[in-house]
Amino acid sequence: MNVLLRKTSLVDYPEKIASVIFFAACNLRCPWCHNRELVLSCGEEVGRGGWVSLDQALAHIRKRRSMLGGVVLSGGEPTLYTKLTELIVSIKDFGLPVKLDTNGMNPSVLETLLRKAPPDYIALDLKLAPDRYAELFPPSHTAGAASAEQVGLALKQSAALIRDSVLTHEFRTLALPNVDETDIDALAPLVDEALWSFRAFSSGNCLDPIWNTFADSSMADVNKLVKRARELGKNAVGGNFGGEGN
Ligand code: SF4
Repeated sequence: MNVLLRKTSLVDYPEKIASVIFFAACNLRCPWCHNRELVLSCGEEVGRGGWVSLDQALAHIRKRRSMLGGVVLSGGEPTLYTKLTELIVSIKDFGLPVKLDTNGMNPSVLETLLRKAPPDYIALDLKLAPDRYAELFPPSHTAGAASAEQVGLALKQSAALIRDSVLTHEFRTLALPNVDETDIDALAPLVDEALWSFRAFSSGNCLDPIWNTFADSSMADVNKLVKRARELGKNAVGGNFGGEGN
């Protein structure tokens, strides 16, 4: 099992110096995704550009644990890794808190994690209105009306699990060219009093080349969504929430 290791990050775990483990593969294909190397990979690129075996990543983190404030599990989509529970337990045994970044498409895995090995911090991506999530299926997926409904339901279930947990959490949204206040209205019921972070979209390295022709979003675009979320009583801010373009 190979992963991409960012040894040190100041932006992926709020107020902590963290190492970030990026897992290969994802169950979505967001056209604006900047994680081409991760999303389209099986993790075979060991030894190149930060790719290491998971064992090597853990050995590095263990060795540097006194200098780290935490570890972030990101991707790709980390909940696709079948031994995530054991991994979180191992990292916590090093004395380090764990943050999980997820797209929320695996509520059953999330539910198991919350019972058996709860992370210390969860960041849930809210990309579009739930009933628009079918737009993010991989091209090979023959998504019909039922599956579109199911995927929106998965997002709602994950958000509910996170809201009902006692864990520190946040929600994250990119100010995409195709996201407006109606998406915020539809997403707002999924969000509690926790932080809802908004960040600008940037083109240039998108999974779908068409998206590289779109203009970057401005702070005015971000602030428009933040304003709408605040009008709905949410703890919304604009800023940088780390990751790789989720
Ligand atoms: S943006 Fe995130 S959820 Fe979407 S394809 Fe990329 S890694 Fe997956």
